[in-house]
Amino acid sequence: MTLFAGMPGSSGSIEVVCGPMFSGKTEELIRRVKRAQIARQKVQIFKPAIDNRYHDTEVVSHSSLSIEATPVNSSIEILQKVYDSTRVVGIDEVQFFDESISIVVEKLARRGIRVIMAGLDQDYMGKSFGPMANLLAIADNVTKIQAICTVCGAPASKTFRKDPKNTNQVLVGETDLYEARCRAHADFFGEDQDQLAFFVNLNESRSKTQNL
Ligand SMILES: [Zn+2]
Repeated sequence: MTLFAGMPGSSGSIEVVCGPMFSGKTEELIRRVKRAQIARQKVQIFKPAIDNRYHDTEVVSHSSLSIEATPVNSSIEILQKVYDSTRVVGIDEVQFFDESISIVVEKLARRGIRVIMAGLDQDYMGKSFGPMANLLAIADNVTKIQAICTVCGAPASKTFRKDPKNTNQVLVGETDLYEARCRAHADFFGEDQDQLAFFVNLNESRSKTQNL
């Protein structure tokens, strides 16, 4: 593989498909991977061992498209399991991986591999999920997909957890636990707390500018 490094047209790439739950991220990952297979490129798919919602060794989308996937316990394991002949690496539910995932995908891309990842960009609190902020920064191509808000039918970018008492960031589940919501209906903290936080930030940045 190093033989081709630096040759035109052989450079790898990093793609991220992200959005809330029920937005069709996994379907998009499967679509890209299947096109690569049609082009006779060797493909390997990985997913975190934590996500066993449907099947242990397959990536399955909500619309039950599926493709074979290798469950791994850490990002380094991906590096160890990619064959020399592999041209495309797909990673599903990438938000569940450790921070080293960005180093791993950069290494793969440098080896000329096209890396396609799908994952939740935000957790149920609307904050960047695990390694996602960094992955979005290093990606060559980012596709954000929206779902449909279950309350009003508007495009939805947020994942809403139905039981607010459960504060575990990693809670694997389906429609029984989560809904897609638009910004207005996600309402994570309530208006009052939002405004308070905004003013605190504003005052902080004012005092910083005065000190300059
Ligand atoms: Zn809404």
